[in-house]
Amino acid sequence: MHSKTRQNTSEPVLAALVGDDCSWCASGALAREEFKGDAAVVCNECGTPTVRVW
Ligand SMILES: [Zn+2]
Repeated sequence: MHSKTRQNTSEPVLAALVGDDCSWCASGALAREEFKGDAAVVCNECGTPTVRVW
């Protein structure tokens, strides 16, 4: 039986982006957030979502 207890393994792209510099502003860094209910990586400075999981 499959269990969905592990939530990080399905989002390798997001995990790889966390901590990167924001592409949209000078001082922001990317952090894991939810954007409109989906997992995303969002700048902690300007709030721009970089990647969403479809
Ligand atoms: Zn930014």
